Amino acid sequence: MSKGKINVAVENIFPLIKKFLYSDHEIFLRELISNATDATNKLKHLSSLGEVKGNLGDTTLEVKIDSKGKKLHVIDKGVGMTADEVNKYINEVAFSGAEEFLEKYKDSAKDSGIIGHFGLGFYSAFMVAKEVEIITKSYKDEPAAHWRCDGSPEYELKKADKKERGTEIILHIDKDSKEFLEESRIKELLSKYNKFMPIPIKFGTREESLPLPDDAAEDAKPETQTVDNIINNPDPAWTKAPADLKEEDYTSFYRELYPMQFEEPLFHIHLNVDYPFNLTGILYFPKLNNDLNIQKDRIQLYQNQVFVTDNVEGIVPEFLTLLRGVIDSPDIPLNVSRSYLQADGAVKKISNYITRKVADKLSSLFKKDRKGFEEKWNDIKVVIEYGMLSEDKFFEKAEKFALYPTTDGDYYTFEELQEKVKDSQTDKDGKMILLYASQVEEQHSYIQAAKEKGYTVLLLDSPIISHLIQKLEGAKENLSFARVDGDAIENLIKKEEATVSKLSEEEKEKLKPLIEAVIPDGQYSVQLEAMDSSSLPFVLTQPEFMRRMKEMQQTGGGMMGSFPEMYTLLVNTNHELVGEILQTKTAKKRERLIKQGLDLARLSQNLLKGEELTAFIQRSLDLIK
Ligand code: ADP
Ligand code: MG
Repeated sequence: MSKGKINVAVENIFPLIKKFLYSDHEIFLRELISNATDATNKLKHLSSLGEVKGNLGDTTLEVKIDSKGKKLHVIDKGVGMTADEVNKYINEVAFSGAEEFLEKYKDSAKDSGIIGHFGLGFYSAFMVAKEVEIITKSYKDEPAAHWRCDGSPEYELKKADKKERGTEIILHIDKDSKEFLEESRIKELLSKYNKFMPIPIKFGTREESLPLPDDAAEDAKPETQTVDNIINNPDPAWTKAPADLKEEDYTSFYRELYPMQFEEPLFHIHLNVDYPFNLTGILYFPKLNNDLNIQKDRIQLYQNQVFVTDNVEGIVPEFLTLLRGVIDSPDIPLNVSRSYLQADGAVKKISNYITRKVADKLSSLFKKDRKGFEEKWNDIKVVIEYGMLSEDKFFEKAEKFALYPTTDGDYYTFEELQEKVKDSQTDKDGKMILLYASQVEEQHSYIQAAKEKGYTVLLLDSPIISHLIQKLEGAKENLSFARVDGDAIENLIKKEEATVSKLSEEEKEKLKPLIEAVIPDGQYSVQLEAMDSSSLPFVLTQPEFMRRMKEMQQTGGGMMGSFPEMYTLLVNTNHELVGEILQTKTAKKRERLIKQGLDLARLSQNLLKGEELTAFIQRSLDLIK
């Protein structure tokens, strides 16, 4: 037996470990299972090189709770350690054995999936244990070793009589960490961090029903047997070659990742690179609705099949955090802050790679099956529009497949759209005007009016569309968007052969103050316009610019102050009712007609509410009496 002092620079490292090593104490289990997995993978690797002879036997790991003894055991059948190795790898803290192993077997070990890097993983056990024991027997022909340490820098190392190869770590759980003796808590941790680890992990047993014999009676109960409860799937889909996977395999892996998610994903993207960085993974496009905030944090980040985090901010571009799935890369530095991550060259490359793969996948879906792509558009558009807005590289690619649906359910690419409207929707300066609606119901009368004039009306209803429109207008010359109920549509109407006004100039001069006298002070600015006699007598429009600024502000445009509501009241001088307003002799009737016309205009904009709405209904009743 030997005694000694753990060789660390800081005399009393344990209190430090407890406090600062990881803010999350629960990760100790991930670290210990990672070590057990490493030890097993090392063994397999040595066996494949012929350095370990014979059959390896079962290599299942085991996690065991001893609630009476207040102990937690993590057991593996991996390479084990000799007493010398315990001295070297455990007593010399911060000396990472994994690193040394990788150094020695650099070329052949690249693909063996060794997890450890930091050299402090093992000591995280002291975050939850007042005492830790290691009982370990190396694959080499040397006696087993028994190490124990009570959290002070002093340890004890002696011989043990363990016969089978492998390592057992025993944690004497601290009073204030009792939760880690509860089965449900350990189960939760295993399923969070170890669900896809490459070596099978046993935690307890479970009852399994045996198949019923063919001639079993209808109400026969199947016999059960007790089997090991294996908590992980060691071969998750993302570690396999895409060629070996069927569509169902991707769907069932999605189920495994999100057991509570009932909707099927729309499609997936299998990521797989090994140069200049190593990354595998599967991303899924779920059906997305218009609420951007509730949908993030669904991508899980792994390193060599060990769960690390579900916050991939800084690693994948923001717009792709709306997707789901897994990314597994040992090349993402995790012991640094997120802001540092974003500046890291390797991480930038990874992020660019993912963006490119997503764009390529979308592009191929679009080319292979345009119809199917159109059908999915509504469910995927937020990601694409968000990406176009935030990543210029993505914009360049997405421009070719981003779709612009019309209110009639036709879909155009931007290029097709321009081709379609270039003759019919330009204003007097030759500028192309793209008309759009954001809500079919509310803007119904405006959409109708525009369609009657032969215009194409798009339906653009994403929460960030006003930002994207702004960007498109900036990127394209001589083109602007105009919402159907906005004032910009006027430019188009005016450009047409101006409808001749039925009113003379004097009549118009007389009309304007009559109307202004009735509408509330400063609420709308009145503008006389000769429109089709079939159009409404009064139309309210909002300046395109103002409305868009307001919307952008609501979705985080970063502008200060709030924009006022501004509306223009267009008075159709060719409408019968307007003629009547001018002709009538009684002031009372005139006022009623104006109020009624104005309220109808507000009603069609959904602006008539409360007291005013009640007054309108009363007035309408009086009129039909
Ligand atoms: P890292 O895993 O980053 O190397 P750790 O502190 O987790 O650092 O472990 C230190 C070293 O102790 C490992 O590199 C390994 O050599 C040894 N070790 C830890 N756990 C085991 C185990 N279960 N079986 C064999 N060796 C182990
Ligand atoms: Mg480790």
